[in-house]
Amino acid sequence: MTEDDYIEKQHNTNTDELNDICDECKKTDESVTQNLILTGFKICKSCRVSKIIFPI
Ligand SMILES: [Zn+2]
Repeated sequence: MTEDDYIEKQHNTNTDELNDICDECKKTDESVTQNLILTGFKICKSCRVSKIIFPI
């Protein structure tokens, strides 16, 4: 693996992480990034409530 490949992979990962798309319902919501930072789950506020009530 070259250094360029490594940087590109890191960049793509970051883009995927911060696209505000919920992993559960696939909806775009600004709360997704907040929940990813706060809880480690990439989910919107609606799915966060569901996860707390019905943890998988
Ligand atoms: Zn959701």
